[in-house]
Amino acid sequence: MNARKHSTGLWLEKGSGPHRVVIVGSGFGGLFAARALRRAAVEVTVIDRTNHHLFQPLLYQLATGVLSEGDIAAPTRDVLHRQANARVLLGEVVHIDLGTREIVLDTLGERSRVPYDSLIVASGARQSYPGHDEFAPHALGLKTIDDALKLRDRIFSALEMAELGLERKNAWLTFAVVGAGPTGVEIAGQIAELARRTLKRNYRNFDPSRARVVLLDSRDTVLPTFPEPLQRRAQRDLEHLGVEVWLGRRVTGVDLDGVDLEGPDGAVGRIDAHTKVWAAGVEASPLGAILAEQSGARLDREGRVKVMPDCTLPACPEVFVVGDLMALKKLPGLADVAMQSGAHAARQIERRVQGHDEPEPFVYRDPGQMAAIARFRAVGWVGRVCVTGLPGWLIWLVVYLTFLTGFKNRLAVIVSWGFAVLGRGRRQPVITEQHVLARPRTLTAPQDATTAR
Ligand SMILES: Cc1cc2nc3c(=O)[nH]c(=O)nc-3n(C[C@H](O)[C@H](O)[C@H](O)COP(=O)(O)OP(=O)(O)OC[C@H]3O[C@@H](n4cnc5c(N)ncnc54)[C@H](O)[C@@H]3O)c2cc1C
Repeated sequence: MNARKHSTGLWLEKGSGPHRVVIVGSGFGGLFAARALRRAAVEVTVIDRTNHHLFQPLLYQLATGVLSEGDIAAPTRDVLHRQANARVLLGEVVHIDLGTREIVLDTLGERSRVPYDSLIVASGARQSYPGHDEFAPHALGLKTIDDALKLRDRIFSALEMAELGLERKNAWLTFAVVGAGPTGVEIAGQIAELARRTLKRNYRNFDPSRARVVLLDSRDTVLPTFPEPLQRRAQRDLEHLGVEVWLGRRVTGVDLDGVDLEGPDGAVGRIDAHTKVWAAGVEASPLGAILAEQSGARLDREGRVKVMPDCTLPACPEVFVVGDLMALKKLPGLADVAMQSGAHAARQIERRVQGHDEPEPFVYRDPGQMAAIARFRAVGWVGRVCVTGLPGWLIWLVVYLTFLTGFKNRLAVIVSWGFAVLGRGRRQPVITEQHVLARPRTLTAPQDATTAR
């Protein structure tokens, strides 16, 4: 074989065609890795079960009718169409064979194998309900476009049900959000703003500003990973919007009609709420376990793969694990970590192809973090500077626009934000039949028909 062995153990074949890099996932990690390889003498294949790159940080705006799915997701093919060394394949990766160096792909029931010389696994994380999968049909997570569209349907349908003046109107007008991290804080703030400001004049039979939004967490603070002054400010901003912040309460049950709770003193309680949002945890993609089983790598509590300092799998220097699937130095599951680790993996592959020997460790540069609570209110830090209120919100706006992929999306988002922020409108408050049908049966089946008032 016309090949030479790299000091890292990677076989680089000469004269047998370009080095084949397969990237699993077109999220932040995968897409940034693919782009970072645009000038490299390699052949890049990006595989994803969806046809798009999704900007997850704005999913909550899709769920509350501010933005459409096209605003926050760009077809991966469009994004990479100018990159001549890249191709895109649609399919679910069902297995990775580290021995034969092949990916097993399932596309609409058709199985195929894709060989690689270097592999970047960036399949992220998914919603988790630790020990309580039975909560899932009642408390929607927010991880995919479909999740957000289902949630949008439930929020706007709940308001329609309240307009009918049926019994249990209060339960239709109560929105329980479980988990007070950035996603929970942002969705709670948006629902409160939607009810109290945007839809104020849209209903005749009830006052939308009567809607209750309850944000629940077992911990004793909102935004636990943020500095303390920002936690306090975020809680104040939420309460100013009318969000009830219930901390130190453990959710012990979720069903069609509400949420059961247990306080720190063991006291139990219940919130009657037809709409529940689950923002209380994620677990790593199952591909992590497949990699661990074959390589002997260890997984952390969330199922993330413990990688070497250069993001490679122990004993498999040709396999990189990046983004939310990677466990390295307690780095958080953030878009910035995914983008930087994806780009790092790409750089390592390019260096090896060029014949450079030593692997470089991944060094994360923390640019800061933000959470937008509502119009003109955000908290976060940029570098070492903490920002809140209107300045924080303006910085949040610029940062998010910068990272939105594709000019078309940016323009559409600016128009929608103008509509929502300067006026009272939401451009996308549509309930679709597809998602109405996807609701738990008891929400759609007529029970005891009552007369609408
Ligand atoms: C609601 C929400 C709000 C967030 N807000 C912020 C924020 O404000 N700031 C921030 O920094 N981070 C935020 N994050 C976190 C951030 O989005 C993630 O850290 C980031 O997306 C991780 O990137 P990734 O590439 O590892 O995974 P992802 O972006 O999740 O991409 C994984 C990709 O892999 C694909 N995939 C998974 N399994 C398979 C398979 N078996 N076969 C084929 N394809 C597969 C998926 O379809 C997906 O496209 C938020 C996340 C959510 C859900």
